[in-house]
Amino acid sequence: MLFRCTNCFGNVVYSPETGKMFCPYCSGTDTQETLAVPNTVNCVNCSGEIQVNDFTSATKCAYCGSYMIFDERVNGTFTPHLIMPFKLGKERVKEIMRKEFGKKLFAPDDFLSEVKLSTMEGMYVPFWMYDFDTHYNFQGRGTKVRSWRRGNTQYTETTYYNVLRDMDASFEKIPVDASYAMEDSTMDLLEPYNYTALEQFQEKYMSGFFSERYNYTAEQLEPRASAKAQNDTEALMQKTLGGYATMVPVSKNMNVTRKATQYALLPVWTYIYKYNNQLYPFQINGQTGKVVGNVPISKKKAVAYTATTAVVWLAIGLLIKGILGGF
Ligand SMILES: [Zn+2]
Ligand SMILES: [Zn+2]
Repeated sequence: MLFRCTNCFGNVVYSPETGKMFCPYCSGTDTQETLAVPNTVNCVNCSGEIQVNDFTSATKCAYCGSYMIFDERVNGTFTPHLIMPFKLGKERVKEIMRKEFGKKLFAPDDFLSEVKLSTMEGMYVPFWMYDFDTHYNFQGRGTKVRSWRRGNTQYTETTYYNVLRDMDASFEKIPVDASYAMEDSTMDLLEPYNYTALEQFQEKYMSGFFSERYNYTAEQLEPRASAKAQNDTEALMQKTLGGYATMVPVSKNMNVTRKATQYALLPVWTYIYKYNNQLYPFQINGQTGKVVGNVPISKKKAVAYTATTAVVWLAIGLLIKGILGGF
C-alpha cells in the first residue's frame, strides 16, 4: 500500500510527533488515498526498481523516496496482530544522538552532522510474543544449622527439612525477535519496551518506515520463549527458599503450557555510520530513545589530542623547572 496525498500527490507518512498522517510535501494532514502495492518489483509511484529481500514488508523507493508497504507481506498469515507505533520522530532521535555522543572527544567530525544523521531510517522489527502458564512442583532436602559453645565444647545441631513447593505462574508477552538480520543481543540491549503502547495493527503506522515480516514461525522460536518462562519460574521458586544452609533438590517437575501467541512489530531507528570503509550501526529504541552502538574513534583526532596533552605537560615541566630554579 502507498499512502498518497490528495492535494499534491506526495507520499503521506505517519508522524510520531503528532500521531497523525502527514504529507511532508504540502504539510497536509489526513488527506490521503491509498494505492495497492501488489508486488515487490517496481515502485507504484515512479516504476523504479525496488531492492528487497525475502522478508521486506515495507521499504523506501531509492528513486522517488516514496515509502510503500507490500500488501502480500502484511496480509493473511503475515498480518501482524499488534504494532507499537513510533513514538520518537527522526528530529527527536537526532537530538538524542547529539546529547548522547556530543562529548565524545575522539568521534569523527561528521559523525553527528545533519547530513549523516538524516540518513537514519525507522524500522519495525517483527516479534513473536508468547503467553505461558507454568506449573512447578519442587521437592528438596534442606538443612538449618545451629551452633553454640558451652564450656570447652562446641555443639552443632543440624536439622533436616523436607521442603515442598507447588506453584503456578503466568507470563504475558514474552518477546522473541523474529528477524534474522537484527541481532538478538542488540534487541536484548534495546529492551525494555512498554507494551501498554501496543495497538491493533494498522498499515498507516508503517508509512514512512521500513519493515520486515517475521523470518521465523512462532513454533520455531517457541523454545527460546519457553526457556525464558522456565528460568523465571525457577527464579521465583528459588526466592521462596531463603533461610536454609543447604538445599539439595530431590525432584523437580515443571510443566509449561503455551496459552497464546501474537505477532507484533516494534519500532527501532537505525543509523549506519560509515568510517574508513567500516560500518558502525546504531540502534535506537523508537519508544524510549535508548541507544545501542559503539562510536568509531578518529585516529587523526586521537593523535591531535595526545599531541596537545604532551605540549601541556612540557609547559608545566618548564614552569616547575622555572619555580625550582628561582627564575
Ligand atoms: Zn501533499
Ligand atoms: Zn519510486
